[in-house]
Amino acid sequence: MELIRGAAELRARVDGPRSAGAGVGLVPTMGAMHGGHASLIRRARSEQDLVVVSIFVNPLQFGPGEDLSRYPRDEAKDVALCGSLGVDLVWAPPNEEVYPPGIVLQAPDPGPVGETLEGAARPSHFAGVLKVVHRLFDVVGPCAAYFGEKDAQQLFVIERMIKGLGLPIAIVACPTIREPDGLALSSRNAYLGPEERAQAACLFLALSEAAGLGRAGERDTAVLIAAMAREIGATPLAELDYAAVVDVDTFEPVRTLERPSRALVAARFPSARLIDNLRLPLPG
Ligand code: AMP
Repeated sequence: MELIRGAAELRARVDGPRSAGAGVGLVPTMGAMHGGHASLIRRARSEQDLVVVSIFVNPLQFGPGEDLSRYPRDEAKDVALCGSLGVDLVWAPPNEEVYPPGIVLQAPDPGPVGETLEGAARPSHFAGVLKVVHRLFDVVGPCAAYFGEKDAQQLFVIERMIKGLGLPIAIVACPTIREPDGLALSSRNAYLGPEERAQAACLFLALSEAAGLGRAGERDTAVLIAAMAREIGATPLAELDYAAVVDVDTFEPVRTLERPSRALVAARFPSARLIDNLRLPLPG
């Protein structure tokens, strides 16, 4: 495995094998890796000839007052994990290799979906995500890119960008990896104290309740949303940010459960803000 810093160096290292016919898999991450990242990497390893993992904490997707400065970083541990999973290239660039000084990079517009839910809670978040992901795709070139359903809205705006701009990238959506109590693995779980950690399963409980209602035949999403809000509201250390049900194809809110839909929740704990989502079964 090689650890690479420079963008041009990475591109050169990928171009050779690709032009000889190798399938390239890219797993973009912000590091502080856990089993969720590992599952994306394993999937890429099983499907591609050359696996590239990027590690970059993108300042543009953090708002003022968010956790950029305390975001967990452990490059040596991440690189060792990548090595043990059979990654070929780790790209861990300094800021100026991602955002070259004096160069105006393309800044794709996330559109209206980028202003709802996570975008409403974190203005400019998705613009920052699209800018860095577009740059990553530009540096790596044509590839299959592996993303987690854990960040379903992010996945949606990235897929839209790829379609809209006609980028030569195939997205592979990977299922959310969870702790035994249902808590979705996240680098931010490290912020949680023991009490918060014990209560953090309320997000998955809320989503599971919504799924249960759907399975039992409830079509009115207002009922599902109220149940999710109640579950999180009843958790002493959690403060509900949003609970929503959206159409998987448009990410627009749905009133009646009749098309493939996804339930999403966000909650603030004293030390971390957590998000999660679950695909809903269709009634009947
Ligand atoms: P991050 O380092 O948080 O930017 O995440 C890098 C990638 O891992 C993104 O595509 C995430 O959606 C994905 N990811 C994060 N947590 C999980 C999880 N629990 N299960 C599966 N994928 C995840």
